[in-house]
Amino acid sequence: MTVLYLSDPARGAVFQAAFAAALPDMPFHVGQAPDPKAVRYLVTWTAPDDLAARFPNLRLIFSVGAGVDQFDLAALPPHVGVVRMLEPGIPQQMQEYVTLATLALHRDLPAYLGQQRAGVWQAGKNLPAEERRVGVMGLGQLGQAALAALRPFGFPLAGWSRKARQIEGVACFTDLDAFLARTDLLICLLPLTAETEGILNAGLFARLPRGARLVHAGRGRQLDHAALLDALDSGQVAGAVLDVTAPEPLPANHPLWAHPRVILTPHIACQTRPGDGARHVIAAIRADLAGQPVAGLIDRIRGY
Ligand code: NDP
Repeated sequence: MTVLYLSDPARGAVFQAAFAAALPDMPFHVGQAPDPKAVRYLVTWTAPDDLAARFPNLRLIFSVGAGVDQFDLAALPPHVGVVRMLEPGIPQQMQEYVTLATLALHRDLPAYLGQQRAGVWQAGKNLPAEERRVGVMGLGQLGQAALAALRPFGFPLAGWSRKARQIEGVACFTDLDAFLARTDLLICLLPLTAETEGILNAGLFARLPRGARLVHAGRGRQLDHAALLDALDSGQVAGAVLDVTAPEPLPANHPLWAHPRVILTPHIACQTRPGDGARHVIAAIRADLAGQPVAGLIDRIRGY
């Protein structure tokens, strides 16, 4: 029974050292396994096309990132479980990113950066946080962490999810229209699934109050980029901070690169820390070997 790591070799070396210390009897290979039939656990970003034939005894596939949308879940053998990355640095970094982006849009930073470049000194009016209604799409690990980080600022907070949720100090919605109608600053932290692909589209922007702002740190394919540009041009959306795009990076001449009301970051909201990532995988394998529930095991039908 072995573990195979198929992602960045330098990070793989960190995983290998952690496995040697915590599970010394479990062989851990980086890059390739001497006996593919012995591979029971695979740690990777992408799944090889011939996964089932190459690793016939595979039991769990671990994503090295927080999402699992890079896998074609329908194409994986039905008996293989898929586990997302859960490590404490991910929600912590997302709290930092969402706070940075929310405050940047709340305090009109894109406009002031433009003014600075143009040599213009002109103060706008600060809106009190109590008058900026923030709404988070996705109330999972990251949505809840983001809301907790934003709470001290005094924004009226809301969230939207599939299941009804109760979170102290947060108005929780399952009705998307009602959620959007009260949201001046929208934060997308949804997983990419068949249901959420393209969800940030013209119809959605039209249902926000005029002049709403967008923070997008979910996945690029959730955003209709042309619809966002139209909404920015019409003033329906006043500004956006985007950490994810499709493709990544955008083509060199894409208008979002230089848009005066858009701040673009290169998918850096969160980066898995290999030491903590290894601890998550080790704990999950220990749980699996003990016949206990595996933290981060996703529902393959639901897609997250
Ligand atoms: P979780 O699985 O913990 O939470 C997902 C949330 O989204 C749940 O609240 C779920 O609803 C909700 N949701 C899913 N589908 C729908 C839908 N169709 N309609 C309404 N709500 C829906 O995921 P995480 O919070 O850990 O991560 C979310 C995503 O963030 C990741 O999948 C990844 O794509 C992205 N991400 C981006 C990073 C970056 O660097 N930019 C870094 C890390 C993650 P319910 O509660 O009802 O199940």
